[in-house]
Amino acid sequence: MPDRYGGSGAEPRTQLEALILQARQNERKLRRFQALELKMIGVESLFELLQTMLYPDPSRFKWDSVSLLLLDHEYEIQRILEEDGVDFARHPNLLFVTERDDIEALYPPSIFPLLGPYVARRHHRLFPKRVRAPASVMLLPLVRHGRLIGSFNIGSLDAERFAEGVRTDFFEHLAATAAICLENAVNMERLKRQGLTDTLTGINNRRFFDQRLAEEVEAAKRSKAPLSCLLLDVDHFKRVNDQYGHLIGDRVLKDVALLVRGQLRGSDVLARYGGEEFVALLPATAEGAAIEVAERVREAIEGGVFRDAQGQPFCVTMSIGVTTFDPATTADAAQTRGESLVRQADICLYRCKQQGRNRVISSGSLNLGVAVSAG
Ligand code: GH3
Ligand code: MG
Ligand code: MG
Repeated sequence: MPDRYGGSGAEPRTQLEALILQARQNERKLRRFQALELKMIGVESLFELLQTMLYPDPSRFKWDSVSLLLLDHEYEIQRILEEDGVDFARHPNLLFVTERDDIEALYPPSIFPLLGPYVARRHHRLFPKRVRAPASVMLLPLVRHGRLIGSFNIGSLDAERFAEGVRTDFFEHLAATAAICLENAVNMERLKRQGLTDTLTGINNRRFFDQRLAEEVEAAKRSKAPLSCLLLDVDHFKRVNDQYGHLIGDRVLKDVALLVRGQLRGSDVLARYGGEEFVALLPATAEGAAIEVAERVREAIEGGVFRDAQGQPFCVTMSIGVTTFDPATTADAAQTRGESLVRQADICLYRCKQQGRNRVISSGSLNLGVAVSAG
């Protein structure tokens, strides 16, 4: 088709036109690469980064196959992804090696992009999932602090696409960004996993709770002792923020955490479940006793004195859903999972909100359709 210069796109009429065309193409290419790099920088998890690299928008990048080989010395990356529920079978082009030698063997001593024809002996492991083997390949070394941490591999069915001598500057920049993003994402995941404490309230966080929940449910099954779960949510907390500002809101959350903790035994687990929601696990506690504890907590919050920035007092209330797992009376006790305990407590909590807040409702009572106690 004739282009606006009167020639076919592939055969510009003059040298100047050829240069203009080239400049335009490069600009478009630069923008595409920049967009991909920005996306990599903006990810919120390691897996999101890997997906961004492995599955670039096919309308922007005409790469026929892409794979990522990562050095995962202590299986840390794989463990992180497993914990996030990643199914490796669905990502056959995500590859790992544990030995640095295995990755260094791909590259000559100088760590530069490698371009050239696909050589099965050398490359078949790098492109495991493909309909046809690529005709040409580009291997981009991912380097941090002078050492290889991975290889980003792109294959094309076009033998000329990654022929030796093709410009690689955009790709090199992409690889440099990818390496930094990878290092950051792994560090971010490490931090996420190391922290078990909520920084605002100082009590345990959701991650800690999730671990303990599974442990406590198993312990209850073994000991045949009931395990109770309280899900606690500050009522109309948004109003506190709106009326007094979020700094006072933060102060309220800290005070609430202290007040709740004060009503629990040392062996009970208390965690911030998220936002203005808390969760408690009470081992060896039957439903009746758990309701009593919840009621004491509710009263402690209702009676607590919270103060605004001017020192003026105001009140806060809390709704609490209670549920109990009793291995002795649960038909399929062996199958019971912690999540269902929390889910039931959440249903009870929802009922509290529906029925006017500042109350305790247990799942046992819910079956009977009555509120256990209301303030
Ligand atoms: P309900 O009684 O139905 O629970 O109403 P609510 O206003 O408590 O619940 P909603 O979920 O509508 O609002 C919760 C608010 O909690 C919204 C959010 O901005 C605020 N919030 C969550 N985390 C924090 C925090 O760490 N600090 C502060 N100050 N506010 C937070
Ligand atoms: Mg609330
Ligand atoms: Mg809430």
